[in-house]
Amino acid sequence: MIDPESVDIDSVAVDPDHCHRCGAELGTRTFEGREYPWCAGCELVLSRNPVPGVHVVVHDDDSVLLLDEPIPQHEGVWSLPGGHAKYDEGPKRAVVRELEEETGLRADPSNLRFLTILHAEFPRVALCLITYALERSEVSGELTPEAEGFEAAFRPLREVRASPDRIRESDLERIEMAFEG
Ligand SMILES: [Zn+2]
Repeated sequence: MIDPESVDIDSVAVDPDHCHRCGAELGTRTFEGREYPWCAGCELVLSRNPVPGVHVVVHDDDSVLLLDEPIPQHEGVWSLPGGHAKYDEGPKRAVVRELEEETGLRADPSNLRFLTILHAEFPRVALCLITYALERSEVSGELTPEAEGFEAAFRPLREVRASPDRIRESDLERIEMAFEG
């Protein structure tokens, strides 16, 4: 067992191979009942943790703003605007910045309505997706997608509901929550 008083714990997002402080190969140690990657030289526990991400459901009474993902393996799948928060940025500022980068639309962080936090595990990272809702009437600017083939559009909710192969279940659930809001 490791004495929690005398070890350092660093948080990492991905499964680590080597110690990021000294470069040594990692072993494992049990700490507070769980097995963790461990650097003996640094007396360092590496704790793998989810990364916060942000998403926004921009909607009016019948449409929702969705992106057509440019990622080849997700061709044809719609996604909510959003991304990762920068180190020195809170979630509201992050989602407003991502919205403008991805769609050209501008918003005031104070108009964001908290919706939910979705925990999503992927092979390399886990995300806590802080999700906000925003009324379409509270955004300004022209809808101008950031890159070619990266289409942003308001789509009718009935079209989204009728296209289960184009929308992830977890995204549709959050969209429904925003409309119920
Ligand atoms: Zn080390």
